[in-house]
Amino acid sequence: MFELVLGTNNAKKLIELRLLLPEDQVQLTTLAEIPDSIDVEETGDTFQANAALKATEQAKHLQRWVLAEDSGLTVNALKGQPGVMSARYAGTHGDDEANNDKLLRELETVPDERRDAYFNCYLCLSDPEGQVRLEENGRCGGRIAHQRSGGAGFGYDPLFIIREYHRTFGELDLTVKQAISHRSRALRKFIPRLLRLIEQES
Ligand code: IMP
Repeated sequence: MFELVLGTNNAKKLIELRLLLPEDQVQLTTLAEIPDSIDVEETGDTFQANAALKATEQAKHLQRWVLAEDSGLTVNALKGQPGVMSARYAGTHGDDEANNDKLLRELETVPDERRDAYFNCYLCLSDPEGQVRLEENGRCGGRIAHQRSGGAGFGYDPLFIIREYHRTFGELDLTVKQAISHRSRALRKFIPRLLRLIEQES
């Protein structure tokens, strides 16, 4: 079995990643199970740079294969914000409520036709020496609501309307999110490449 560390502490992201990764071929370990894992600072200017930092720094430290991801929300009317600052938009890392409040405030006077937005997800696989071996990304478009709806998911999900469903990710079942999200789109491109790499490495 190919042993792979998932380089994220976000429990909801872990659920989404685990649901798609082939656990019959890949043995997954989370950072929570590794007491000496490190907290990698996201100092990059892009999702791609931050995903690479989280994968390579952790991999070098643990001397193990690490898959990391960096994701976030891009709002055109806000010149691309929150972007790489998505997790700490309102100041405190991971404060989803405050981030959503800030997004609503910033878009208070923006009409529906200019509230389009998209999620991005960048994946990066590092080998134990800290070399980037695979990168992939996925995107999911939508529109920012005027108020929260639904309790599913995490982050900006209660505000992110999927046009085809007229519902936010917060209202939609996880199976729908798994079919269309930025993370699952990136993963579906990534997995066949991972399986080929595993074959070459064995
Ligand atoms: P990261 O840990 O820097 O990648 O933070 C990603 C941030 O982007 C999260 O804290 C959320 O605010 C936002 N985000 C990423 N993916 C999703 C998603 O699937 N739904 C809602 N928010 C997301």
